[in-house]
Amino acid sequence: MTTVPAYAAPTPKAPLERTTVPLRPLGEHDVLIDIQYAGICHSDIHQVNNGWQEGIFPMVPGHEIAGTVAAAGAGVTRFAVGDRVGVGCLVDSCRTCDNCRAGLEQHCANGPVATYNDRDKNGDPTYGGYARQIVVDENYTLRIPDALPLDTAAPLLCAGITTYSPLRYWNAGPGQRVAVIGMGGLGHLAVRIAHALGAEVTVLSQTLGKREDGLRLGASDYHATSDPETFEKLRDRFDLIVSTVSAPLDFGKYLSLLRTGGTLVNVGAPEEPVSLDLFALIGGRRSLAGSNIGGIQETQEMLDFCAEHGIASEIEVIPADQVNEAYERVLRSDVRYRFVIDTTTI
Ligand code: NAP
Ligand code: ZN
Ligand code: ZN
Repeated sequence: MTTVPAYAAPTPKAPLERTTVPLRPLGEHDVLIDIQYAGICHSDIHQVNNGWQEGIFPMVPGHEIAGTVAAAGAGVTRFAVGDRVGVGCLVDSCRTCDNCRAGLEQHCANGPVATYNDRDKNGDPTYGGYARQIVVDENYTLRIPDALPLDTAAPLLCAGITTYSPLRYWNAGPGQRVAVIGMGGLGHLAVRIAHALGAEVTVLSQTLGKREDGLRLGASDYHATSDPETFEKLRDRFDLIVSTVSAPLDFGKYLSLLRTGGTLVNVGAPEEPVSLDLFALIGGRRSLAGSNIGGIQETQEMLDFCAEHGIASEIEVIPADQVNEAYERVLRSDVRYRFVIDTTTI
């Protein structure tokens, strides 16, 4: 069996350490990818901590993968050796259900196969991007446009698509007031993408500490949610609010910032449930919605959109042996705005 050097959490909540994990054999429609960069998503931390469900250990996180094709199976038609490619949160799905056929593989009725902390069609564990290489079906591999550097593009594979998809679905654009809650990995890309789509963007952050960056990335307004006056000042203001917050939030307070008929889309995935006074929805015919990453075709569309608009992530590149410190900093909201592991250091 071929193995590959990787960084893994051996058990739930344990620090990540260097190890080797199995690399599946190259199938007819697979590409072997030399990984160069892997973004650290807050979801990696939730999963290493068993925060969502019982995880599969050892766990190699990483679903913001950028690299180049090192080998291609005999039946591969879409990629050639040397191509610049990315892999996001999905590496397979049933391909036959209505959702798969509609390009909504993330909602596959038979369950998509996640890039890590999941089992593939053979029942084998999947291992993610904190590794030197990965084997992925070409149909779940994305093309990274030449205009995007691989390091700053990597976070687009999760943080980018997770914010692009709801912004598109809820029609963020000219004449729309969009608020983004949380100026982290997802949030800073939501600001850039919503601005590029033509919306008027406001950031709602816990403090004003990242205000200059928010304005530089395209926001026209920036408010601290620690200031109670913020909620008075901004009442009934927004058409769309996107929450990227990783912890439970008082959604009732934020719903009051929507105009009549507005929508608050939550993409944050906190480990505990939240409660809601439903009058926050009834008054103002407001909606509270959710959104989960995006399908493969939409992910490619997002990469092309970002290349066209010069959008990529603000990053701090780290060697793999700093991943545990990086996790601590993400938990303290001390990241500007995505840690990206140089996976050649593994
Ligand atoms: P992140 O970089 O840590 O950003 C989250 C931001 O939320 C922080 O920067 C902080 O922004 C704010 N925040 C954190 N704790 C808070 C609290 N207690 N109260 C209010 N605000 C708080 O995380 P991320 O990688 O962007 O991911 C965000 C969440 O989205 C995670 O739960 C992740 O699992 C989830 N996620 C979901 C999907 C999906 O498909 N739905 C995909 C990817 C990630 P400020 O400092 O500006 O306040
Ligand atoms: Zn993610
Ligand atoms: Zn399906």
